[in-house]
Amino acid sequence: MTRTAILLSTVVALAACQTAPAVSPLAEPGNPALQASRTAGVAPVLATADAVDPHSYARPLEARVTNVALDLAVDFAAKRLAGTATLDIDRRPDARVIVLDRKGYEVESVTDGAGRPLAYSLGAADEELGTRFQIELGPDTRRLVIRYRSAPNASALQWLTPAQTAGKQQPFLFSQGQSIENRSWIPTQDSPGIRQTWSARISVPSPLTAVMSAPGGGEDGDIGGPKDKARTFAFSMPHPVAPYLIAIAVGDLKFQSLGPRTGVWAEPVTLPAATRELEDTEKMVMAAEQLFGPYRWGRYDMIVLPPSFPFGGMENPTLTFLTPTFIAGDKSLTSLIAHELAHSWSGNLATNATWADFWLNEGTTTYAERRIVEAIYGPEVARQQVALGIGALGKAVEENGGATGADTRLAVDLRGRHPDAGLTDIAYEKGAAFLRMIEANVGRERFDDYLRGWFARHSFQPVTSALFLADLRQHLIRGDRALEQKLQLERWVYQPGVPANSVPADPQAFAEVDRAAVAAGRGALPTAEWAQWTTDERLRFLQRLPRKQGRAALTRLDQALGLNQTGNMEVKFAWLELAVANRYDPAVPALEQFLTSQGRGKFVRPLIRTLAADTSWGRPIAARVYRRARPLYHPIVTRNLDELKL
Ligand SMILES: [Zn+2]
Repeated sequence: MTRTAILLSTVVALAACQTAPAVSPLAEPGNPALQASRTAGVAPVLATADAVDPHSYARPLEARVTNVALDLAVDFAAKRLAGTATLDIDRRPDARVIVLDRKGYEVESVTDGAGRPLAYSLGAADEELGTRFQIELGPDTRRLVIRYRSAPNASALQWLTPAQTAGKQQPFLFSQGQSIENRSWIPTQDSPGIRQTWSARISVPSPLTAVMSAPGGGEDGDIGGPKDKARTFAFSMPHPVAPYLIAIAVGDLKFQSLGPRTGVWAEPVTLPAATRELEDTEKMVMAAEQLFGPYRWGRYDMIVLPPSFPFGGMENPTLTFLTPTFIAGDKSLTSLIAHELAHSWSGNLATNATWADFWLNEGTTTYAERRIVEAIYGPEVARQQVALGIGALGKAVEENGGATGADTRLAVDLRGRHPDAGLTDIAYEKGAAFLRMIEANVGRERFDDYLRGWFARHSFQPVTSALFLADLRQHLIRGDRALEQKLQLERWVYQPGVPANSVPADPQAFAEVDRAAVAAGRGALPTAEWAQWTTDERLRFLQRLPRKQGRAALTRLDQALGLNQTGNMEVKFAWLELAVANRYDPAVPALEQFLTSQGRGKFVRPLIRTLAADTSWGRPIAARVYRRARPLYHPIVTRNLDELKL
């Protein structure tokens, strides 16, 4: 346990530093050092080498942001957010400067809390990380006021014309901060290990509504000028959060309550379908609390965004951001909600200190998602989703260099690369498989107890892989050598590939579907069964079909199962992958429609990449579609696709 002691003693709460400059021990619950900093709303910054974030310029152990207060006006014509950010800082007494992250926003002035100008400098620009933004501190500077405006091409923000929305009447703005994009519109230290409380006053053109990932939203309407020209909304997040979790959306938005603490925002035309699809949400929150402990954020609301939203969902606290592509009409894709909700514990309470440990956010959440699905929809459904996950893991290992590929480690080395290089199914599915393996070895009840403790001990704090393993040893393994031997923790986290002690998929999960896929390979199509199958079963079937198919076979398949016509976006994607791999021309109109009507990265990236790689057949299609679709796609998606030079 020496290792544990060393790791745990190197947590620094800067608030404590000012009076006692040494290191304060982290803290079992009740430890006064950590408790004191929590009361002040200041979360600790980890000081271990593995918690140093290579994707931020900040030097938080010298001076760090503790609170951000935004006062911004939204200008759709100029595509800018403009106003001030007031930062409260914690610093060592001898700190001369504070370093922030900046990507493209234009700084007009920097003053201290009393309005005295502070000197600042900007470093050389890096295309992905942005620039160092260094501000000189006076001996007593505790507050910074930065007057600035975001650039029209800020990478976190997407500005949609009315035509690009579902309602077609009003413009729309939304942000996506993860992983390192919020530095394009919020001047702060943009590192997940530097948690900050925050508030915002947002002025928008009437009649638009602003929502954010924090309690609030009430209109106060006191911004200068006639009330019919501008509306003002105020938000305040009392818990320290990782800055990538600050999010905004502005548009023609209406709200529908779903339960005592749950509800959904959407454009009016989308709201009825969204409401029906999300009606189990309150039940999900209760199920999640049973599993993981109290929901700590107050309300759990969601917003269904226009089709450009680049992800399935984003777990912005108190307000999950969702793609409309999850609306299938039959709640068959609502495991997405279970996933985003689970992040209210894994990811938002206990957050990866750096993106190298992204699996702590996503693997834990993927495991938790399936536990929630099991509680709501039953063990059969969960068993199938686990099996699909194990299939995805096998594919991810292959795509990342096989069993010895460095990027198949859970703790992945992302230095010199954009953090999104780690956004693979290794983080999600190997992470989930790791936790499932632990559960299988210690039993469900004991593991659930442990997980509740993990979240309670690390609520509103950054965590690393090493911290997780130390915590497992201290609170779960407790010196049991046989168990330690069985779990192979280091092998799972720091070695490539999937260890032999992983729990295999239940062979019965898709037994019927797998037999049908084999039969279909010989020409016998499951037309009657297809109508009865769930989405997961349909996906499994399509994934299990022979990858090489002739045109006649694909035509029979399409005609029997109506694949070009399906409204379920996951099923359509699985079909289009197969069609593109086989240069199946009759699917091209459906493909073009699919790629130009939504911008979810998980769907559009692989299809366009596969097309582009097929120089004679696919590349001209990719070029044609991409020219049309690019304005719909978020900058996070176009960043990767632009490099294909279509
Ligand atoms: Zn997630």
